[in-house]
Amino acid sequence: MSQLTLDTRLIHVGEPKILGAVTLPIFQSVTYLFEDANDYDAVRYARLNNTPNHEALAIKLANLESAEAAVVTASGMAAISTVLLGLLNQGDHILLQDGIYGGTWALVVNEFPRFGIEYDFVDPNSPNEWQEKLKPNTRMLYMETVSNPLMEVADLESASAFARDNGLISVVDNTFASPVNCRPVELGFDLVVHSATKYLNGHSDVVAGAIMGSQVLLDALMPRLNLYGGTLDTHACFLLQRGIKTLSLRVERQNHNATRLASALSEHPKVKRVLYPGLISHPRHALARRILHGFGGMLSFEVENAEVAARVCSRLQLGVDAPSLGGVETLVTRPTTTSHKPLSQEARERLGIRDGLIRVSVGIEDADDLIDDFVRALQ
Ligand SMILES: *Cc1c(COP(=O)(O)O)cnc(C)c1O
Repeated sequence: MSQLTLDTRLIHVGEPKILGAVTLPIFQSVTYLFEDANDYDAVRYARLNNTPNHEALAIKLANLESAEAAVVTASGMAAISTVLLGLLNQGDHILLQDGIYGGTWALVVNEFPRFGIEYDFVDPNSPNEWQEKLKPNTRMLYMETVSNPLMEVADLESASAFARDNGLISVVDNTFASPVNCRPVELGFDLVVHSATKYLNGHSDVVAGAIMGSQVLLDALMPRLNLYGGTLDTHACFLLQRGIKTLSLRVERQNHNATRLASALSEHPKVKRVLYPGLISHPRHALARRILHGFGGMLSFEVENAEVAARVCSRLQLGVDAPSLGGVETLVTRPTTTSHKPLSQEARERLGIRDGLIRVSVGIEDADDLIDDFVRALQ
């Protein structure tokens, strides 16, 4: 079905009609009839990610990232930890981009020393720095399509070429863009990881993750995921499968709403700056135009100081002050009090994350209603 567009494939790929059911039922059974005593792979057991729910989702997830293979995981962090710990060995070195997701950062900085894995952080737009920090034992390059909370866009074209030229496994966390706005496998990436908790599920009611990529790498990772135990429960599989069907409808509306809200905010006198890849003022706007099919539902804007930011967040009637992102409802957070609180004031200033910064995960509400809500809260 690869000639069909993503919108159509989201609905029809990975939808087996078991016993004629149009919607794939939830397979609550943990174990299945043993059919071939000579083949350990014939063991069907829910932790081994081979129930009908897991298998259907794997087909759907691979297809929507244009990848050969995929697996669903118990969370975004289960996907990320399985890829990093499953492919890096003691004595290996990894290059990761600056400002990655806090959980990934903590996994690398707090846990890698115990395993003897070396790391360096690099600017996602500086191939020269990647070259300088490359070592004989470097095995992997790890990026994020769009990063939190400054909405940096990584130079994925140069990154995949650099990885290929130097024999590195290229991995990208595509959570913020979603496969509607970017498909890194089409840009040459080996592996894509997702927090499916966010856009893929889209309703803030499931924690899940996914790994998509080449068959060879998935074959290497699957036995390890089965041992590490990061298996998604089949109830959650069902909800994720349902959520994915409306992915492009939701993300297209979110792209539209975020574009409208970003331009309204950038004209507001109390807003000091707006960070959104779709704005011409964004430092990577040209790159974003090239590698993204849409500019996404995530934006950040800055007001005078922490007190004003807190007041704006508390006065919003539609925007909900809560962490996470990618759901149908608009969420706001202040990075200096949530995701980036552990950093020192000085470290945050250096990254450009100021106290007046507000991050918005734009939902699918009406754009005019959302703009009115933010303008009213800013008065
Ligand atoms: C939320 C998030 C994760 C972690 O996902 P969980 O599903 O919470 O484990 C990883 N990467 C990014 C970019 C995220 O936003």
